[in-house]
Amino acid sequence: MSTALAESRRIVITGLRNAGKSSVMNNLFEKNVSIVSNTPGTTTDPVTRKIELGNLGPCAVSDTAGVDEFGELGEMRRVKSLERLKTCDIVIFVSRADRDIDPEERSILNGIISQGKPFIFVLTCTDLMADQKKLDWAQEYNPIKVNNIDAQGFKDLRKRLDSLKIVDSHELTPVEGLVNEGDFVILVTPIDLAAPKGRLIMPQVETIRDLLDRDCATLVLKERELKQFYDKLAIKPKLVITDSQAFAQVAADIPEDQPLTSFSILFARKKGDLNTFIEGIEAIESTPKNAKILVMESCAHHRQADDIGTVKIPRLFKQLVRQDVEFDFTRKMPSDDELKEYYMVIHCGGCMITSNSMIDRMDIVKRNGTYITNYGLFLGWVNGVLPRAIKPLL
Ligand code: SF4
Repeated sequence: MSTALAESRRIVITGLRNAGKSSVMNNLFEKNVSIVSNTPGTTTDPVTRKIELGNLGPCAVSDTAGVDEFGELGEMRRVKSLERLKTCDIVIFVSRADRDIDPEERSILNGIISQGKPFIFVLTCTDLMADQKKLDWAQEYNPIKVNNIDAQGFKDLRKRLDSLKIVDSHELTPVEGLVNEGDFVILVTPIDLAAPKGRLIMPQVETIRDLLDRDCATLVLKERELKQFYDKLAIKPKLVITDSQAFAQVAADIPEDQPLTSFSILFARKKGDLNTFIEGIEAIESTPKNAKILVMESCAHHRQADDIGTVKIPRLFKQLVRQDVEFDFTRKMPSDDELKEYYMVIHCGGCMITSNSMIDRMDIVKRNGTYITNYGLFLGWVNGVLPRAIKPLL
């Protein structure tokens, strides 16, 4: 249950308003985690809870707003629900047995099938007078039938989930393939104003854990202590991994032949497609006059005065590439039309999202003819250490 959301399988419960999605969620968790009401549209924003499910392991289950929401707010909720659907691993599609087939639900189900996502069709309200067309339609997908009287259907749903065979799109661990048992690795983690109080950030924690799992020894220190300790070492580290913002100092304090990379470059490889990010860097020097650049992050972290995304990266870009570029900032995926206006997206490390979500973001950006790179690669390029910083990963 302590598995990070970004490392859990994503299960999304979808369907029309008032189809019984929240009841499915509550019965799956055997407690009230989502509000159930006869009023359509009770679930507004997605409700996500973690659960451990048999063969699937740690899962994050989201109950979403109806795909038939309407009005200005409804449309925003609908878009949010559809976004969840795109990046999830498994879909629970909920439809009422006593209602005729709605074109919207047919289109959603067709979309799920065309994406090749595993899904379970849950037919609710089977104790009420059924609509024959709905029954015939559902029958094609071997539905789980649930009624409002007993919980048998929900037990069947859990069993069906347990038995799903999911082909994993393998997400690399931070140092997979880069180290061997017994290797020694130095991690440079600046503790500045941007560092959270009393803890390390997730990419640092995950990397330390991965190194320990691989029976490696680690030395964790701040950039100020690096030279002093490095010079006393009796063995050469297999790798030095630094926060990208300390690249310049770290590169200057260790020998040139010392393999070096950064946490965000490790995460660029783990979450996304490193080659596509490198293509983005290669396009920087051709940035046209008055180009628009979009800085995209994946979570609402607390911004500092000299924030990397909103302050440092725009400043460095204007100093080193061209002054006349215009920067925008977002945490949400823009529409296709909005994306087409940007020459390049510079994305954060994406440590809070799954690799599926990051790959999905990258595909959407590329489809719209926009380049994409990430913070770590950009800072490596700025500091003139990029070839060195990606070498251990190629
Ligand atoms: S902004 Fe991006 S890299 Fe930073 S914590 Fe959030 S998800 Fe992770």
